[in-house]
This record gives sequence, C-alpha cells and structure tokens, in this order.
Amino acid sequence: MLLPHQPLQDTAVVPSQRVPSREEAGPWHAEAVCRRDEAGLFFAPSKEPTAARLAREEAAKRVCARCPVMIECREHALVQPEPYGVWGGLTAAERRVVLARRRRRETELQRSARMQAAG
Ligand code: SF4
Repeated sequence: MLLPHQPLQDTAVVPSQRVPSREEAGPWHAEAVCRRDEAGLFFAPSKEPTAARLAREEAAKRVCARCPVMIECREHALVQPEPYGVWGGLTAAERRVVLARRRRRETELQRSARMQAAG
C-alpha cells in the first residue's frame, strides 16, 4: 500500500525514515495531499539546523492544513505511533504531547470509575 509521503515512482529514492513504520492504515491515503513530497517537507534530513527544521515543519503544516484527510492521518500517526515526521499537521514532539495527555485522561477516567465502583 502506498502511504502519504511515499513517492509514487518506484525509482525514487526513499530515505528509510520516510517509509511508514506500519502499512495497515486505511483508505484515506488515496486523498493525501503529500503523496508526492518532492520538497521533502515532512521528514528531517540528517543534521538539520533548528531554524531550518522549524521552517520546514511550518511549511509541512501548511500543506496539512489544506489536506482533506488531516484528521485520519493524525489519528493514524498517533495510534501507530509514527515516530518521525509531520503527520496530520503535528510534529513528532507535538504528537508525544497529545499522547501523554490522552494517557493522563485515561488514567483519570479509570481512577474515577474505580472510585464510583467502590461506592
Ligand atoms: S495531513 Fe499532512 S501528512 Fe497527513 S496526509 Fe495530509 S498532507 Fe500528508
């Protein structure tokens, strides 16, 4: 299955970090705006200076903002989880924050449920 960020041509060079960690995402890939990432916006080249990284990530997020499958893509990246790159308008660091918040919320809900069950 061809995934976002993955070039359509087999002859294209695909750096290893651009190959998604799993290939079981849904049909939303067909509508991904970034199917051909010729500009290399979505994943960092090695030894990228911070200012260049921030500019590249902002450019990638602008692409994501007009993507019709941003929600599906973001959820895919959170669930896998995808460790690298911009997915669904979020950087890897931003996804870690979202996941940490989700874990905290789940823990709080479980604690609340236990307290209610205990009476
Ligand atoms: S939301 Fe961004 S990373 Fe995801 S498919 Fe669309 S353009 Fe690609």
